[in-house]
Amino acid sequence: MPEAPSESDSQPKPEKSERRTPADVAEEVAPGIVRIMLPIELPGLGHVNCYALEDDRGIALIDPGLADGLSHDVLTGRLADVGLDIARVHTAVATHGHFDHFGGIARLRKLETAQPVAVYAHASFGAGWRDAYSELLDPASEDSSSLEARTDEEVREYLLELAGSLRRETPWGTKTDGFPVDLLRSWSEGINPIDTLRPPDVSHPVNDGDTIELGGHAWTALHTPGHADDHLCLWNGELGVMFGGDHLLPNITPHISGFSAYDDPLGEFFASLERVAGVEGIELVLPAHGDPFGDPSGRAAAIAEHHHGRLDRIREIGDEIGNQPVGGYMKLLFRERSWGMMAASETYAHLEWLRIHDNATRTNEGKSPHYDI
Ligand SMILES: [Zn+2]
Repeated sequence: MPEAPSESDSQPKPEKSERRTPADVAEEVAPGIVRIMLPIELPGLGHVNCYALEDDRGIALIDPGLADGLSHDVLTGRLADVGLDIARVHTAVATHGHFDHFGGIARLRKLETAQPVAVYAHASFGAGWRDAYSELLDPASEDSSSLEARTDEEVREYLLELAGSLRRETPWGTKTDGFPVDLLRSWSEGINPIDTLRPPDVSHPVNDGDTIELGGHAWTALHTPGHADDHLCLWNGELGVMFGGDHLLPNITPHISGFSAYDDPLGEFFASLERVAGVEGIELVLPAHGDPFGDPSGRAAAIAEHHHGRLDRIREIGDEIGNQPVGGYMKLLFRERSWGMMAASETYAHLEWLRIHDNATRTNEGKSPHYDI
């Protein structure tokens, strides 16, 4: 998922590596670890990094991108460029339950692979979304063949219904938008449209501290909620490498979602930043967007500082506007072009932090909560 829009970009700045369109070559970024940049169309992001690791049995992939056919074709091609056959994929890891990271698993599972693709993700993977999808009409339960038999108009009607049914109440008293139908349509060619967005079933749930064997090395899982409740980083001390997912990105700060099973998602995020900073011996972070980088504890501290700056700004806004709903704060915290669900969600997470850790008060429960700081 994209970054939270930032206010501090009035000067032209060097291009952020997270925004670059995919390179047309795969690159070995650490011994035995190949970075493949896959295309995505999301605000602020030009690609998602999929990492491939080979062992005797075949290939493990971390974050195989969106579900769309183009992404799958690029993945297939880049693997072939480095002599890897996608049919040898035996494992897919999703660092967290966002569709730009797990979507490609739906297509991997449709391949005729030598062995069923094992799916590793945190034990709470996609928890909130699973409930949302469980009541959705599923046109084809297993595959999209019944959808393909429908007329264009019937497909469009179905997708509209699917997109609309994804509108959810927010904890701050509004309702989210549905999903863009055209995107759903283009992503779902050849697969069940629900599978472009619905987190896949996990064959191997992972808990904090578990080790996973990938590419012949043991990787330790670190549960790092904040950007998403189910976020995992994986590290290996011998190689000095950590897969950072969206938790640690090189230039942008990950979006902190107000949709969370945690009371205090920003507080969880701060704790997760400290957790990765506390892992010793990591020299290289392989993020899900942007270029690999070093010094995870320095980057974690910089990201935490950014959010403390935002909290200070909200305190100032509170002095100006008094008792206001989330939208009132959002409009002063973000530029108008960024107003919307993500900005509101992030504002809400910050306001809740101020309520829990500072002296902000929350009133008007049940409708649209108001915050006084
Ligand atoms: Zn992402």
